[in-house]
Amino acid sequence: MELYRLTAHELARMIRGKEVSARDAIESLLKRKENVDSKIDAYREEGVGSKSVLVDADNVDAAIRRGEDPGPLAGVPIARKANLCVKGKLTTCGSTILFPFRPPYDGTAIERLKEAGAILYGCTQMDEFAMGSSTENCGPCTKNPWDQSRVPGGSSGGSAAAVAADEAIAALGTDTGGSVRQPAAFCGVVGLKPTYGRVSRYGLIAFASSLDQIGPLTKDVEDAALLLSVIGGHDPRDSTSLDIDLPDFREGLDEPITGLRIGVPKEYFVEGLDGEVKGAVRKAIDELVALGAEVVDISLPHTEYAVATYYIIAPAEASSNLARYDGVQYGQRRDSGALLGMYEETRQDYFGDEVKRRIILGTYVLSSGYYDAYYLKAQKVRTLIKNDFDEAFKVCDVIVTPTSPTPAFKIGEKMEDPLQMYLSDIFTISANLAGIPAISIPCGFSGAGLPIGFQIMGRPLDERTVLQAAYAYEKSTTWNERRPDLKWITKSS
Ligand code: GLN
Repeated sequence: MELYRLTAHELARMIRGKEVSARDAIESLLKRKENVDSKIDAYREEGVGSKSVLVDADNVDAAIRRGEDPGPLAGVPIARKANLCVKGKLTTCGSTILFPFRPPYDGTAIERLKEAGAILYGCTQMDEFAMGSSTENCGPCTKNPWDQSRVPGGSSGGSAAAVAADEAIAALGTDTGGSVRQPAAFCGVVGLKPTYGRVSRYGLIAFASSLDQIGPLTKDVEDAALLLSVIGGHDPRDSTSLDIDLPDFREGLDEPITGLRIGVPKEYFVEGLDGEVKGAVRKAIDELVALGAEVVDISLPHTEYAVATYYIIAPAEASSNLARYDGVQYGQRRDSGALLGMYEETRQDYFGDEVKRRIILGTYVLSSGYYDAYYLKAQKVRTLIKNDFDEAFKVCDVIVTPTSPTPAFKIGEKMEDPLQMYLSDIFTISANLAGIPAISIPCGFSGAGLPIGFQIMGRPLDERTVLQAAYAYEKSTTWNERRPDLKWITKSS
């Protein structure tokens, strides 16, 4: 089998056992990228840095030859979304305003991947500043490997497409309102958003700081558990990082789920939900029941306010976070001769339309006179949404829902209608508002051959149960073994 097809845990085991070298793995991945990425555009022009990854691979191989422990991700190439800082590497968050920013440091998740022996492999495409659900707010937009006329989801669409097309063994993405889970669902891979505070945000370029979390996109649930065990844990450099023990999430992953209480919220199976998605998720619930779980009907009554609440809080925080891009310290500058003119022209010319829309929205809801009516109210509703989950978790252990109301939509379909785009986040946003962990895993295909994902949400910090349920389901089905054939690109791929 081609090495690029393997999962992280399989490849790391083979490299550690000297069955294959880290160099073989990187060469296989580089070849794969050369064959397919010109059509998928999962990677940004910043590219992979083929020379430096070969040197990194040789270092891993040399360490293994010297008998040193190369770490749990020895030699595994892992892609990163373009909003995660890697020392010395171009990191633009998908925005021209940040070009040509090269961070002087590694973010914590990146540092931990490197310490675990992983090879930081390439920078993936994303919606500018992670604002979007389709990886179209950037150029060139990433194509869904299952159908090139469709989006891969967003904003971590490059990471999801890279994993789905076997152009990366695994990838990191970020999830503020669904940006790991929704692209995972659209591309037929696994995407995990950890509990808020589980993974340090140090070195993640901020979008909405009370919602942002870094999470893995992987080919199977075991890899999601492995990556979370590597990147998670306390970090004094992020004041919201939780100072609690980080378990090895692979331990006990295969425990039976007998007696697990699955909450099914009625508010997530409503009008607007695609029939094929509904059918696939219902079947997934039946499968979990066949594995010993029990269904509990629950209600999350404030779900209908989640989209509105998120699209007030996230832009408010973004407008504040993005105030720093004024041409002075980072990236590009339009030098008009006058200081105010420089700020204005730099922001006018180098931010994209969606980012400007969010800044305007965010500034408006925070402005005096409107603060109470919008921002403060949204914060109160956020508490109600969180309370819904607290109540629900008194009677169930996990909550199962669709990840997205539809399979991948067409490129361009929602670009002229931001509200329709925002509504595609309807099932993922609440987990961010409540800060709870949630995973998306494949559960079927539409008649048109597009992947469908379902979501499992858990109690705060209970990634273990979420992963166990996902693992049990994955092992009893074969959805995650399917890969797009990519015949539309090249016969030899
Ligand atoms: N699609 C949502 C937005 O546009 C979520 C983005 C994200 O999670 N980064 O804000």
